[in-house]
Amino acid sequence: MSQSRRDFIKFAVVGSVAAGCPVDATLIAAPDSKAGAGPQVHGEHFEVCHQVRDGHQFERPDVTQKADVVIIGGGVAGLSAAYFLRGKEWLLLEKEDHFGGNAFQEEYDGQPFATGSAYAYRGDEGDHLAKEIGLTLLPVDNPDPTIINKTFVPDTWKAGLDQLPYPKEVRESFRKFRDEMMKIKVREKMAELDTQPLTNFTSGYAPEITQWWDGYGPSNWGATTADTSAFVGISSMQDLASGGDAKRVILPGGLGCITHKLVEVLQPKYKERMLGDATVVAVVQDKDAVRVTYLREGKLITVSAKAVLMCTPKHITSRIVLGLPPDQKTAMRHIRYAPYPVVNLIFDQPVYNRGYDNWCPGNSFTDFIVADWTVRNTPGYKQKNNILSFYTPLREEQRSTLLDEEDCKSLAARVLADFQKLMPEFNVNPVEVRIYRRGHPMFMAVPGHYTKTRIAAAHPMDRIFFGNADSGGPESLTSEAIRLSKVGTEWADLVLAGKPGAKDLAEKALQAVAD
Ligand SMILES: Cc1cc2nc3c(=O)[nH]c(=O)nc-3n(C[C@H](O)[C@H](O)[C@H](O)COP(=O)(O)OP(=O)(O)OC[C@H]3O[C@@H](n4cnc5c(N)ncnc54)[C@H](O)[C@@H]3O)c2cc1C
Repeated sequence: MSQSRRDFIKFAVVGSVAAGCPVDATLIAAPDSKAGAGPQVHGEHFEVCHQVRDGHQFERPDVTQKADVVIIGGGVAGLSAAYFLRGKEWLLLEKEDHFGGNAFQEEYDGQPFATGSAYAYRGDEGDHLAKEIGLTLLPVDNPDPTIINKTFVPDTWKAGLDQLPYPKEVRESFRKFRDEMMKIKVREKMAELDTQPLTNFTSGYAPEITQWWDGYGPSNWGATTADTSAFVGISSMQDLASGGDAKRVILPGGLGCITHKLVEVLQPKYKERMLGDATVVAVVQDKDAVRVTYLREGKLITVSAKAVLMCTPKHITSRIVLGLPPDQKTAMRHIRYAPYPVVNLIFDQPVYNRGYDNWCPGNSFTDFIVADWTVRNTPGYKQKNNILSFYTPLREEQRSTLLDEEDCKSLAARVLADFQKLMPEFNVNPVEVRIYRRGHPMFMAVPGHYTKTRIAAAHPMDRIFFGNADSGGPESLTSEAIRLSKVGTEWADLVLAGKPGAKDLAEKALQAVAD
C-alpha cells in the first residue's frame, strides 16, 4: 500500500504488549471515528510488570483490607469465578482499566466485534454460562471455508477437498492425510501422541497440507505444525472432518460478549469489589491466610484473604506468587505463549459476507471472521458496517516487533494489502483499522503441554488455587477457563469451611480430559 493511501485510513493501535502490564487508559481512548486523519497511535505502559519480571521487590505494606476470597485477574476465568462466588465475600483485582482479558469486545458505531477469543461450542461451559446470564449464542453456519488462489472453497475438510485449487495429486494427498488421521485412536493414544510434533504425521504428504496447518494451528493454539502436539493436531483434524465445527456458537463480539455481560450482571451489586487498574505484585501464603499486595493509583495495598484464586496466566503467576515449590515454578515458566495481535478492518459497505472463519494460507493473517455473522439473518437486522477480524499470530521471536507502533501499523497494512489481493472484489478501503496487540495471550499447545507441563504447573497450594485457561486444554479455551473457575469456587468453599478434600478436588479437575 502506498504511504499516501495508508495515511488516509485511520489506524488505531491498542492493547497490552507484555501481558501482565497495565495499559494507560488515556492512551487507549476510542479514536474519533471517520475523522479521516492520519494514523492514530495508541500505546501502553508496562513499568510495573516489567519491574516484577526483572526481580524488583515491591514493598509489602501491612494488611489494611480483608476478604474471604481474592480473585486475581479479570478475564473470563476471574469474572466467572466472581459470578460463581456470588454471596461470598470476594475481591476481584484486574490490572487493566477494563475486564475481559483475551475475551474482550470492542465496538464501532454501536457494533460489537472481537479483539481476541472468537467462539464457543454448543453445550460447553461457555455456552452454559452465557445462557445462565441471559445470552443465547447462535449457531455458526459455513464455519471453515478456505480462500486460496482466488477460489472460495466451502467446507474445507469434507466436500471442499475436491474443490481445492491445487493439482490433482495435491488434492489426493489432502484426502489421504485426512483419511489416515481419522483412523488414529487419539484418546487411547493421548499420552504417546502428546510427546510428538504434528510434523511426524504431516511429513510425506504434500507441503500444502503443512501450510494449511501452519495457519490453523497458530490461530487456534499458537503453534505451527512443527511446534504442535500431535494429540492436539490430529484431534482437531478429526473434529473438522467429522463436522465438529458445526457445533460452534457465538454472537457479535466473540466470547467478549460473555465477559461484557458478566460485567453488566455483576457490577450493579458488586462494583466496589471489582477493582480495575489494580496490579497484583505479590501473593504470599501464610499458615492461616494469604497476603495479596497490589498497586492502585500509585499506592501499594495489602489485603488478607482466606483463599486466593489465581486467574492470571502462569508466566505472570510464577512471578508474583512467592514460595512456589521449585519444580512447579519451573513448569510454569516452561509454558510458551504466542504473541498475538488481532487486526479489525471496518468497512462502511458490504465487502465480504460469505463464510464465518475464512482460512487463507500463505498470507500475513491466518484467517478472518465476519463479526456479525450469526445475527446477519435475524429478522430486522441490518449490517451498518462490515467488520472483519483478522487473526495474525506471530512467532515467539517476533514478539518484540509489537513494541514498535510503526511495526504494528505495517502489519495491519500488510493484512489489508493481502486481503485486497485475495479476490478482485475485495479491493476496497476500510474506514478504520484497529489493531489490538497482545504479547503473550495464548499458551502454545506444544508437545507435552497438555499431559505434563500444565499439570505440574497447576497443583494447588493450601490456600492458593491456580486457574486460568492455561491450567486446562488441550488448547487455550474459554470453556476450560470457566470449568476450572467453577472447580476453584468449590475448592474455595472447602478451604473456607476448613473441610478436607480441597486438594483432591483440584487435582482431579486437572486430570479430567476435556471432551
Ligand atoms: C486471538 C485469540 C483468539 C482466541 N479464540 C478463542 C476461541 O475462539 N475460543 C476459545 O474458547 N478461546 C479462544 N481463545 C483463548 C481464550 O481467549 C482464552 O482461553 C480465555 O479468554 C482466557 O481467559 P482467562 O481468564 O483464563 O485468561 P486471560 O484472558 O489471560 O485473563 C487474565 C487476566 O489477568 C489480568 N492480569 C494479568 N496480570 C495481572 C496482575 N499482575 N494483576 C491483576 N490482573 C492481572 C489480565 O489483564 C487479564 O485480564 C483465543 C485467544 C486469543 C488470544
